[in-house]
Amino acid sequence: MGNYTLECLQCKSEYQGDYRLKCNNDSSFLRANYSAKQLALKNTKGMGKFHDWLPIHKQLDTEATPITYKSEELARELGLINLYIGFSGYWPERGAFIKTCSFKELEAHPTMQRLTEAGGKALVVASVGNTARAFAHVSAMTGIDVYIVVPRCGLPRMWLPEEPTDSIHLIRMAEGNDYTDAIHLADRIAQSPGIMPEGGAKNVARRDGMGTVMLDGATTIKCIPDHYFQAVGSGTGGIAAWEAAIRLRSDGRFGNHLPKLQLAQNLPFTPMLNAWNAGRREIIPEIDMPDPKKNIDEMYANVLSNRVPPYSVNGGLFDALTDTNGSMYGITNDEAKEAKALFESLEGIDILPPSAVAVASLIKSIEAGNVSKDDVILLNIAGGGTDRLKEDYSLTKIHPIANAKNPDVPLEDLIQPDKYLGAGAGILDFDDGECER
Ligand SMILES: *Cc1c(COP(=O)(O)O)cnc(C)c1O
Ligand SMILES: [Zn+2]
Repeated sequence: MGNYTLECLQCKSEYQGDYRLKCNNDSSFLRANYSAKQLALKNTKGMGKFHDWLPIHKQLDTEATPITYKSEELARELGLINLYIGFSGYWPERGAFIKTCSFKELEAHPTMQRLTEAGGKALVVASVGNTARAFAHVSAMTGIDVYIVVPRCGLPRMWLPEEPTDSIHLIRMAEGNDYTDAIHLADRIAQSPGIMPEGGAKNVARRDGMGTVMLDGATTIKCIPDHYFQAVGSGTGGIAAWEAAIRLRSDGRFGNHLPKLQLAQNLPFTPMLNAWNAGRREIIPEIDMPDPKKNIDEMYANVLSNRVPPYSVNGGLFDALTDTNGSMYGITNDEAKEAKALFESLEGIDILPPSAVAVASLIKSIEAGNVSKDDVILLNIAGGGTDRLKEDYSLTKIHPIANAKNPDVPLEDLIQPDKYLGAGAGILDFDDGECER
């Protein structure tokens, strides 16, 4: 049954592909084993073309997909010959139609469909913004209920290119709570009957959805790139790129190497960078992320603030970096802002702060001699085109249906239907959450 099974990377148990997030025996990641060993692209514009390697049964019907193109201007500026840009966002001139403007939508479409294929009715997800927007959009398109938990600073990113629907239940957390608090509250909500957790990196639909950036890159370039650049907060995109490359390698037509993962975090909050540079699989909070709330507050790209990233877990980012001989970079706010201006002026599209961090890391890696000028490089611009989108669409705000003081508030206050049907009662002003700088 089905076009895939799930295999535990540790004990090798195999499971049929329902909405399963973990192994019965251990806490290792599961990985999807697709029956198609070679990727045959389907004849459709959106990410449904990668159906062979997505953990769903019915082919996705969405125009959302990553695009890949060869850079000229930025490549010339940096002295690179084979620089390819993977772009997830809105840029109609290049065929990019992700209207929530980040690669989180590549995760949301297959995850929501996987949920319904498994008989699920509602999903809960925690987010600092881009993930929330992606799931809200898919909810608006499909009518599937989502509960979205967002810390205060994520609220300015809660917009949609369409009218929000009643299926979107946005829960705002009070000041002083960060992304990780939102994750804790979402975990509690997921215990409620009928509400399934999105699952984060444990969710193979999330990983393989994000992995389509690598699939699109390799099928466009016609080989697996030598390097993959991305800014990371959780590292899920990096894990996804690694897993996609492993599948491409066994496909046989794209080369038999893996791309070197070149991943960046935004200083001063860089737990994975610190652990990786110390050669450790474990993140030690006192050493690797001292004073987290203060340091997260100082980040330019605060969507990259995850205090519990899937780094140490079997099949997580430490393994991905190790297997690909990867590197990590720490990028200052100023370096990111400079890189953003450079990229936008040369490539002609606006990009989100995390993508600016990725561009800055490419510049750093060249300076450090970590890439050669004719290496094949895939730079994942995982979010962009919001300014471009505003030229074509008027955006609407999603209003919270409830306020949570902390992750331990009674759930009845947040998710009772009669609470949210009152639409936004007692909710603070939307714009009070601005904290991107
Ligand atoms: C979420 C996000 C990232 C970080 O992704 P990981 O989950 O850490 O791989 C980078 N860029 C953008 C635009 C994002 O939305
Ligand atoms: Zn197992």
